[in-house]
Amino acid sequence: MPTSLYLHIPFCRHRCAYCDFNTYAGLDELKPAYVRALIREIRGVGRSAQTAGVPRSVHTVFFGGGTPSLLSQKELTGILSQVRESFELTVDAEITLEANPGTVDLPRLAAMREQGVNRLSLGMQSSDADELRMLERQHGMEQVQRAVSWAGQAGFDNLNLDLIYGLPGQDLSRWEASLETALALEPEHLSLYALSMEFGTPMRKWVEGGRLPWPDPDLAADMYELADELLKRAGYLQYEISNWARPGLDGQPLACSHNLQIWRTGEYLGFGAGAHGCAEGWRMRVARSPRAYIERLAVPDWTEQYPFSPAMSSREYQEPEQVLEDMLILGLRLTREGVSEARYAARFGRSLEEDFGAVIDDLLSVGLLEKPGWGIRLTSRGRLLGNQVFERFVGQLPRGRSAKTPNSTVRI
Ligand code: SF4
Repeated sequence: MPTSLYLHIPFCRHRCAYCDFNTYAGLDELKPAYVRALIREIRGVGRSAQTAGVPRSVHTVFFGGGTPSLLSQKELTGILSQVRESFELTVDAEITLEANPGTVDLPRLAAMREQGVNRLSLGMQSSDADELRMLERQHGMEQVQRAVSWAGQAGFDNLNLDLIYGLPGQDLSRWEASLETALALEPEHLSLYALSMEFGTPMRKWVEGGRLPWPDPDLAADMYELADELLKRAGYLQYEISNWARPGLDGQPLACSHNLQIWRTGEYLGFGAGAHGCAEGWRMRVARSPRAYIERLAVPDWTEQYPFSPAMSSREYQEPEQVLEDMLILGLRLTREGVSEARYAARFGRSLEEDFGAVIDDLLSVGLLEKPGWGIRLTSRGRLLGNQVFERFVGQLPRGRSAKTPNSTVRI
């Protein structure tokens, strides 16, 4: 199966109040050196894949961040050219770029499209001016509308909009207005995320200090159900806990193939500061700091073998039991396909029943899982309580049953 590439661009114009991603404002002077380091990393890992005789076929590339749309056209072109030189992109490869409204214009979008970017993901978040201000987003709804219109003119026919719900002070009618506004823009794909109050963010401090109310989790659950209903009525198909898409010509949702690769526990390589990767049985993480990333890649030559690079700060060999649990937990996020008995047995030579029978029976009996015939998947109630379902699968399998249990975590 072809692999996937994630490329992290850790620059933003401003840190939004709720954000805890590995991203930085005010580091623009590092951008040229960072892009050079990224290109070196892609080239080096591509070369070591070739030396190791590993197939280099790639079917998805995802520019995430951060704000990848802050890259200049020349920088984006340079990175994509290196990807094409070091790996073999399939003819129909999905190439996604995350962008913030206000950082794109028609010539930029047209140039990206020309370079082969064929999926655009815009951070809309809300249509409400007060909510956008509270989130400290650097755009208004007019900029979202303009960006969507330019994307269409530039030839993008696979557009995602990200929205956030469960905000302090948000009520159902405001959320409904944001959803209706997003639907009116007719995107192919919608990602809806519940706000998470991450430690260390300004928003968490404001809530803890009483400046903003704590979001109500029951209200957030109502918002999720409202979204599900509205999107279903508008013809969208839910395919993952937080993701909906319009059906394509084959009737299947126009899903994000890159994220499907991860949810299906396929292999992917992560490049750039803080990126994660998973390949050849290893889980790897790149150093978080952009400066450290640049320094680590400044070595004239490197001896790391595929799939490693000198920029990695840790790597862990996955015990087989860990892989089984990941397949369950990530697969159950896929609300349509769930976890297939046949795929599980083909991959691990054991049955779902054998490994997780007791937990599955329990979750079936309380209505959080269902068995549609080919395997298991979450019920609509299970989607609301996903984390509780996933927790039940963790640690179910005794570690060290396999003859091959390297279990080595290496901090580099
Ligand atoms: S634009 Fe996105 S990545 Fe950047 S600070 Fe805001 S939420 Fe975080």
